[in-house]
This record gives sequence, C-alpha cells and structure tokens, in this order.
Amino acid sequence: MKTLQELTRPNIWKLKPYSSARDEYKGIAASVFLDANENPYNTPNNRYPDPLQWDLKKALGKLKGVAPENIFLGNGSDEAIDLMFRAFCEPCRDNVVAIEPTYGMYQVCAEINEVEYRKVLLDEHFHLSVDKLLEAADGHTKLVFLCSPNNPTGNDLDPAEIERLLLNFDGLVVLDEAYNDFSDAPSFLKRLDEFPNLVVLQTFSKAWGCAAIRLGMAFASADIIGILTKIKYPYNVNQLTQQQAMEMLHRYYEIERWVDMLKEERNRMEKEFARLPCVKKVFPSNANFFLVKVTDAVKIYNYLVGEGIIVRNRHTVTLCGNCLRITVGTKMENETLLEALRKYGV
Ligand SMILES: *Cc1c(COP(=O)(O)O)cnc(C)c1O
Repeated sequence: MKTLQELTRPNIWKLKPYSSARDEYKGIAASVFLDANENPYNTPNNRYPDPLQWDLKKALGKLKGVAPENIFLGNGSDEAIDLMFRAFCEPCRDNVVAIEPTYGMYQVCAEINEVEYRKVLLDEHFHLSVDKLLEAADGHTKLVFLCSPNNPTGNDLDPAEIERLLLNFDGLVVLDEAYNDFSDAPSFLKRLDEFPNLVVLQTFSKAWGCAAIRLGMAFASADIIGILTKIKYPYNVNQLTQQQAMEMLHRYYEIERWVDMLKEERNRMEKEFARLPCVKKVFPSNANFFLVKVTDAVKIYNYLVGEGIIVRNRHTVTLCGNCLRITVGTKMENETLLEALRKYGV
C-alpha cells in the first residue's frame, strides 16, 4: 500500500480544519454556554450538536466491535462516498476503478468531482475478476469501489477475492456493505486491523429502517477516519438524527427480527417468482431485494405502475437487460405484487 500521505490530495493533507465552538470546548462539565452564539431559548434544539457524535460512536462501536476512532458518521453513506473523492482524488488527474453494474452514486460522485471512473464488468454470474480490476488500475488509481451484496445484482462478492484485492492493490478499497445485514457472509469489519487500506461503508437506511434520518457509517483506520473527519461539514449529523440512532441501538432486537422476516420473505418470493410465466430468471440474492429477468421489463414495469405498484426498472443497466429489481416488502405488499404478476400472464 502507498502511504496515506501519498494517497491524500496535498491540499487536504496540509489543511487545518475549521474549529467550531463545540470543538474547542472539551473541558469539565459547564452550565453556562456563551461561546457559540446560540439562542438560550427553545431547548434542546437551540444547541449545536456534538460535531464528532461521540456518544453515538461509542455505543455503535460497542455493537460493531470497533473503536470509536475507527468510525466516521455522515449524512447518509453518500456523504462518505463523496468525501472519499474529495479527500483522495485530484480532479482531472486521479482515477477510480469500480465493478459494473453497481450502485450509481460512485459514478455520479466521480463525475461531480471530475475524477475518471473506470468500469470493470462482472461476469454473467455477476462475479468479480480481481485481475481485471488490477489491470484497469494505474499509478493514479486512488480508490477501488466494491459493493457486497452488490446493488442491483443482489449477490455477495467472493470474500477470498476481496481479500486478494486488499492485499494486491496499493490504494484504498471502499467496500460498501449497505446490505450485509441480510447476508450470511461475515462483514469485513472484523478484519479492519488486517487491512490498512480497507474502508467499509454501512448505513442506517436499509436493515435499520431509518432511511429518513440520513445516517451512514464509514469504518477504517484511525488515520483514514481522521482525514474524512477533517474535511466534513462541522455539524454534518444533526441532533435529531443522533438521538434517533441512539434509540435504534437500544431497540436492536427489533432490527434483528426485521432482518429475519425479510430474509424469509426474500426466499419465499424468489421461489414464487421462479414460477411466474413472465419471469425468465431469478438471480440469487443475499440482500433485501432481488433481480429478475422478465419477458419485457418496460412493459411489465408500466403495467405494475398502472396497478399502483412501483418496482425498479433496471433494463438500461449493463448486464441487466429486461431486468427488474424487486425490494422485499411486507408479506401483504409482496402478495399484492405476486397477484398482479399472476394476472399479467406472459
Ligand atoms: C441504499 C444504498 C446505500 C445507502 O445510502 P445512504 O446514503 O446511506 O442512504 C449505500 N450503498 C448502496 C449500495 C445502497 O444500495
């Protein structure tokens, strides 16, 4: 691996971050706060939130088996993805490599930041080739993006291959585990100490049932987390979000129950879909959604819209011709979809 200084944009490496009032005061307990130009009325929302979300990181770290210094929290995983570009990729000079097809935000962030985005096709079973990823990389490749289970294909990537990439790529590997809760494959979080170039992304938006609060997590070495923390907006995670996340941590048993139900429903839906005349192939999934190849994706998508049911049309995505991506819902929602498709015919 290159040194972190070699990987970081020189302006970011040199940057002295903005220091907020709440950053500078870290002393003993005080009761009079006249340092941040806040309004003394309308408690508790009159106060700026903890810029480093320390209580939340400690509680989350306990659950995840990670030290708080190894955690970055952002306004969705999307913030962490964007900050990876802004921290490490020099516009118009550096590049990133990613599997294709995958989550669309990596490419959008690359384009916003004017960073070349190199796509490496998965094979027809949606398996990755580490050799091809490494071939696509050069001296200016700062990041490789992997997503496991992958969106929109639903499959886990081979952990042995992920490990081979981590050992052989000299930049950072961003492994997006947004859907890992739904997979039986162990998270790479447990192996953070083994791989100094690993950045694991997770989110409150899927298994945690908290898409509305916008909270994403990045896990990496304390040095990498330090760089992301240095360039984030000072109060990037608002107080209401921090509170709701804390509450969810106390109700973790519910998340486990939801995940079990959704996995069971996913398996049932995959079997039911295989029996539908308009379905040509069901791709095996380790996530809370699955991809299906149908007779005519555009026609079926429009038919379902007419029935008041929205699925994701992935027809125009590489390797996903005539494919729909189906999110697993409640048993009743799933039945409504199945009934509509039975009625549709071929
Ligand atoms: C849904 C999803 C996310 C979550 O993004 P948030 O900004 O945290 O809501 C991240 N990565 C992938 C691959 C996703 O599908």
